[in-house]
Amino acid sequence: MVETSFDIELIRAQFPTLQQKVGKYPLVYFDNGATSQKPKVVIDRLDQYYKLENANIHRGVHYLSQISTDNYEKARKSIQAFINAKHDHEVIFTSGTTDGINLVAQCFGTLLEKGDEILITELEHHSNIVPWQMIAAEKGLLVKYIPLLENGELDWDQLDELLTEKTKLLAFAHVSNSLGTINPAKEIIKKAHSNGTKVLLDAAQSLQHFKVDVQDLDCDFLAFSGHKVFGPTGIGALYGKEDLLNEMPPYKGGGDMIKTVSMEKTEYNELPFKFEAGTPHIAGAIGLGTAVDWLSGFNYNEIQQYEDELLSYATEQIKTIDGVTIYGEAKNKSSILSFLIEGLHPYDIGTLLNQQGIAVRTGHHCTQPVMDHFGIPGTIRASFCFYNTKEEIDLFINALKKAVDMLK
Ligand code: PMP
Repeated sequence: MVETSFDIELIRAQFPTLQQKVGKYPLVYFDNGATSQKPKVVIDRLDQYYKLENANIHRGVHYLSQISTDNYEKARKSIQAFINAKHDHEVIFTSGTTDGINLVAQCFGTLLEKGDEILITELEHHSNIVPWQMIAAEKGLLVKYIPLLENGELDWDQLDELLTEKTKLLAFAHVSNSLGTINPAKEIIKKAHSNGTKVLLDAAQSLQHFKVDVQDLDCDFLAFSGHKVFGPTGIGALYGKEDLLNEMPPYKGGGDMIKTVSMEKTEYNELPFKFEAGTPHIAGAIGLGTAVDWLSGFNYNEIQQYEDELLSYATEQIKTIDGVTIYGEAKNKSSILSFLIEGLHPYDIGTLLNQQGIAVRTGHHCTQPVMDHFGIPGTIRASFCFYNTKEEIDLFINALKKAVDMLK
């Protein structure tokens, strides 16, 4: 992989969306936690696919179908390399993190028995809570959780007590989307394994910020979304260890996931196809392959250092505004700044920021239990990516000051 030099102007030039204005203001995009913008190389790859390569995969003998199949499988290998999976068939294409977690909840869930326990945390995105509650209701399982502390870290000291001989799976976010907390995944996974508990890591907010190596972490499952790592929407991947994926039955039936079908019975296909029923998002998978190849060209240490600088600068600047409370002050934190301003509604602030070209997100960020914990309805969240700049943070802080003056 060729290392790309970390030149912010050259990086920004690759993103057509970032060149726009909102009215008379330059667009300042600080909603990266929700989705990232797409570099031209990814947009061009999708264009090329639909212009020159479009065909259904795996079942065709003709020229286009072969090209399309080769490129789809090449994308799987790109993702394998990106997360350092041992085998490419341990990478299952999904529609995103939510889809990957639901797959594990349903398919791993069928292996569980009444009274078994799933451990999650109070910090989770709804997509790492609801699927467990659904399978728990269906199978008579118990869902327990690691509680949140005031600074936005989890109370991992309670892990030993909460892990019992019945805890079959621990599922937690690598990085919190509403508070930015980075969880000490490797250490936690090791502890869970010593209890015989499997671990699912929700990597929706981590892969775009730092290197994630599934073999080093030793997680059993890892789910992520393409659209947050500079790829298309509607595509993502689930990593699972080969033996576990082989043990689990599929939950979606249809084309491609079968070896043979008769009117009486079906023999399932091997990995990874067993879990990929129907025509997949072929262009999306190929675009995602391009996105992770592009991202792998950067030095992650440089990305992390730069994003840390952006976060420190923004945190410092926002503290100069009267009445600001920051939510999430974990020692190890990703570039997410969640805050409120005393007496002001987050939605009003978001709207006035938008009128000045600044894109932030307001609300509960699909983490209602986190908001309940702090006794607030939601926050204003600015989430930074390595294509953002300190100058944009200055524009944001000035716009925020203006908004506060107008509302107070
Ligand atoms: N988990 C986390 C931590 C997230 O931030 C998100 C997206 N906000 C998801 C899961 C769900 O991702 P998607 O909607 O792409 O499936």
